[in-house]
Amino acid sequence: MAIAPEAIHAIVMQVPRVVNCHDIASRGVFGRQVFIEMHMIVDADDVEIAHQITEEVEARLQERFHPARVVIHVEPPAYKSESISYES
Ligand SMILES: [Zn+2]
Repeated sequence: MAIAPEAIHAIVMQVPRVVNCHDIASRGVFGRQVFIEMHMIVDADDVEIAHQITEEVEARLQERFHPARVVIHVEPPAYKSESISYES
């Protein structure tokens, strides 16, 4: 892990309409190039809004951890019951 998953989680959960974020993983060297992956559940009825939320999350992570490459797997709210985990 390049970055503590708790630190990523805290930033992501501040973005409006993010319901849950789990399976957070990162690798690389902080300050040089980090790769961040996560699953995210958003409160959005359509892909366009889900995409906007994702963009906001990416922007905030970039601001804090740049240069970063961020991959976000968006899941529907039906996945809410999935347990929260920091494992990849
Ligand atoms: Zn998931």
